[in-house]
Amino acid sequence: MLELKNVSKFYYNNGIIASGFTKVNLKFNIGEFIVITGESGSGKSTLLNVISGLDSYEEGEMYINGKETSHYTENDFEEYRRKYIANIFQNFNLVNSYTVYQNVELVLLLNGYKKKDVKKKVLDMIDQVGLTKFKNTKVSKLSGGQKQRVAIARAMVKETPIIVADEPTGNLDVESAKEAIEILKKVSKDKLVIIVTHNIEQMEQYATRIIKMHDGRIIENTEVKKIDRNIQAETSKYSKISIFNKYRLGFRNTFNVFTKFALLFAVFLFITISVLLEYSSFQSLEYELSQEDYSYYFEDFSPNRVLIKKQDKSAFSDEDYKKIEGISNVDYVVKNDYLVDKDVIFYKMENISDPYNSVIFSGIINDIEKFDGTLDVGRMPENANEVVISCSKEDYNISNKLDKLINNKFSISTTNSYNEVTTASVVGIMYNDDDDDYLYDIYGSKELIDKLNLSVNRNFSTLRYLFNGKYTNINTYLVIPNKNVEKGKAIVNDDLKYQLSKGRIKNQPISICVDNIFYEDKLDLKISGTYTKNNFTKVTGIEEFNNGIICINEEDYNSLYDKAPYQSSVYVKEVDNIDETLLELKEIGIAPKRITDFAVQDNAAYKQVMKIVKLVVTFLLIIVLFFISYLIIKIILKSRNVYYTTLRMLGATFKSVKRILDIELFVNSNIAYFTFILIVYLVNANILNWGYVANLTSFLTIREYVLVYIILVCMSRLISRRFARKVFKKSAISTYNEEV
Ligand code: ADP
Ligand code: MG
Repeated sequence: MLELKNVSKFYYNNGIIASGFTKVNLKFNIGEFIVITGESGSGKSTLLNVISGLDSYEEGEMYINGKETSHYTENDFEEYRRKYIANIFQNFNLVNSYTVYQNVELVLLLNGYKKKDVKKKVLDMIDQVGLTKFKNTKVSKLSGGQKQRVAIARAMVKETPIIVADEPTGNLDVESAKEAIEILKKVSKDKLVIIVTHNIEQMEQYATRIIKMHDGRIIENTEVKKIDRNIQAETSKYSKISIFNKYRLGFRNTFNVFTKFALLFAVFLFITISVLLEYSSFQSLEYELSQEDYSYYFEDFSPNRVLIKKQDKSAFSDEDYKKIEGISNVDYVVKNDYLVDKDVIFYKMENISDPYNSVIFSGIINDIEKFDGTLDVGRMPENANEVVISCSKEDYNISNKLDKLINNKFSISTTNSYNEVTTASVVGIMYNDDDDDYLYDIYGSKELIDKLNLSVNRNFSTLRYLFNGKYTNINTYLVIPNKNVEKGKAIVNDDLKYQLSKGRIKNQPISICVDNIFYEDKLDLKISGTYTKNNFTKVTGIEEFNNGIICINEEDYNSLYDKAPYQSSVYVKEVDNIDETLLELKEIGIAPKRITDFAVQDNAAYKQVMKIVKLVVTFLLIIVLFFISYLIIKIILKSRNVYYTTLRMLGATFKSVKRILDIELFVNSNIAYFTFILIVYLVNANILNWGYVANLTSFLTIREYVLVYIILVCMSRLISRRFARKVFKKSAISTYNEEV
């Protein structure tokens, strides 16, 4: 059934040709028990590998059932191996982390047997080799003789016509060797068995033919027992491994070696955390930049203007201002400089929707002390609620509605949404020649300007509250001033009590946190009462029920916004000497920046650059992480090379190896990912108190979590693909020899 005609095998190593065996002529039939001997290096293993289709040959022809094989491709040989060959190796080649049952079962699963057909077959076979007692024992715990019996069972269960065994007793003591051979002889009737040994005495009594090799040649070929030559070979039935069985093996491999599981788990957890950490540190950096940076809404680009902040980022004190004003080139300081750049709107509420009667104008508000012209109409202000304006005589309001402008009271707003901050009357007008300047110059009292600044702080702030150790999402409850609330207290929705695990809500601490482009601050209060739908009006004094508010004392509320400035503007007398002034400012702890330096700075472009940098860095990080994890996983999986090569020898294809590994890494990465999610959940539910995790996740949204999951899954797939490629790069036998 198997015939070799003048077959030779050479090895090419770095240009040197070595001979494995030369001009071998042999014929094998079913029913024979062939024993091959010869000294070490005589070519026995090479011959077996060629016969098994594990290795190629270079010269001559090998016939299988009369068919030539010299044109066989890798795939043809794989099919040949699946149909005809079962191997038994000197070092058993078993999966140590599997039980006896799983080892025998493995070969059937890989060759497409259904689970229900497998069990009886496997148990039968284990019984025949006398290991029923050990069927659920891990192979690593067995003795050498027992291991070889498992290997015999595994070879036999596949039901191939040819059994090839390379020194199967080489690692066994005399007693176990004898036992193993007897069992092999017993179970292999009606098959072709080819055994290599250098201990001929051990095998002689079982052999039907003895072949001796020397230096790559056959020097003896003696038939010692007649056999019936009419036995027909029945090839092994096989099909592709079923998806279900791939999953079974993948899952089994996830957990079968604990250290491997733990290491892979650590790697995947590391990937998850580092990607999220990187992302979240970017978010917090952006946030900090927005805290530290100067506001970018500049209108006044006068060359003599210098923006100042404290070098230590604290608020300015009166003393600071005194020092600054003491510098000789300093003309004056605008403490709250936001209004230098942002126009305020003067309007009359009663006729805002009637354009013919309404008067609306906007302009930059200045300190009345800076006014140094002469009025054309009216008089100078006499109290805090009076202003004078400067504008073009051609202006529509002046030429058409002068009587509605002068000596009229206006509402003032710092935003376009017409929220009245305060009111003031226009009592005087000075004309200028600026025809196309639609912005007026408005001059008012310090008091008025302070009021407007307070409102600016408020408009650009977000409020959050901190209750029971947790910050709320912005805008869950609106914080509002209320006359019924005492200083230092707060009245909250009764529902807040559900956030407490124990204790009464009354007298619980609650903090209101304010946060804007200039500063952040916290106001610590105590809850003095709660409102429900029924007592709302009684408690708060507000008519209409609103369950989304936290009421605090008016004074407390204002204290959130009434802050010493964090950013101011200095105006110098001599622009030529400005560099000197900047140095002097730095000497007294100020961080100065000329406003003209901002003229070219485009905030949108800056943000765009940030975004791109973020993208590139994240991308690079993922690549670096991929290679780091690939290297680590490669090292971890190196111990698995033998396993996957074994799978391959037992009939697994590239695809199934890849899939089995895929599943293992997928399961492991998911366990790592969801462990992390669970930790995040526990931290957010205040069950675990890990501040570090809370910080890490405070900037993350569901989008980032999904993204990281996708990255993780893609990485584990890429890794399994690369690894499977590596397993299949060389022939099975050379990979195997390298590893063992
Ligand atoms: P045996 O199994 O009888 O001890 P082998 O079949 O292993 O002998 O080796 C036969 C010859 O082929 C030896 O000379 C050995 O050096 C050579 N050989 C075996 N494997 C390789 C290989 N991978 N590369 C080069 N030479 C090899
Ligand atoms: Mg050998």
